Amino acid sequence: MSFAIPAPAQATVAVVGGAPFPVRRIYCVGRNYAAHAREMGHDPDREPPFFFMKPADAVVPTDSVVPYPAATADYHHEIELVVALSGGGRDIPVEKALELVFGYAVGLDMTRRDLQAQAKKLGRPWDMAKGFDQSAPCAPIVPVAQCGHPDKGAVWLKVNGEVRQQGDLSDLIWNVAETISYLSGLVELFPGDLIYTGTPEGVGAVIKGDQLQGHVDGLPDINITIG
Ligand code: MN
Repeated sequence: MSFAIPAPAQATVAVVGGAPFPVRRIYCVGRNYAAHAREMGHDPDREPPFFFMKPADAVVPTDSVVPYPAATADYHHEIELVVALSGGGRDIPVEKALELVFGYAVGLDMTRRDLQAQAKKLGRPWDMAKGFDQSAPCAPIVPVAQCGHPDKGAVWLKVNGEVRQQGDLSDLIWNVAETISYLSGLVELFPGDLIYTGTPEGVGAVIKGDQLQGHVDGLPDINITIG
């Protein structure tokens, strides 16, 4: 097929031991760890999951230098478990949801926190706070055949070797199956979709030159330098 202009490149994430994973959409869950919901001023017990999106081409491979973004003075890290889908559908029951999963990765939901705070205050969308260029670093995806479906294990983020965020997958308010099921009631899911599942407490700002190392037990780390 020919196009009016050259077609944009397909966004991809590396796969451990295989061909790259083509990214269709990036969904992100907000406030999915109780302690992080509390640090952002919310009661985690009363809120159903909510979602926002990043563009597919916001993905950045590990070992990249990510330029400090424009229009912010409060650029935050959020370490997250990322789910990569090889299946899709609508209204997926919780007990069938994990059948859609291709694999798992470690990702960063980078956030312009000052723009997010302004958007919340003014009742405006979060897109420019969350869905900006290079806002979704993602380490290589491990296929389920190799890592299974992780439902517990340490999640942490270090900045310049110092631990800033620390949590456990078992503390997710909505687990992976519940998240997929809930999201599939809002939109039809497709192979190629990524879901960033939310961050534990300890989010904070980074500056130029900082080295970020993000970890989820059983998966390859994400390593990023802020340029
Ligand atoms: Mn997040």
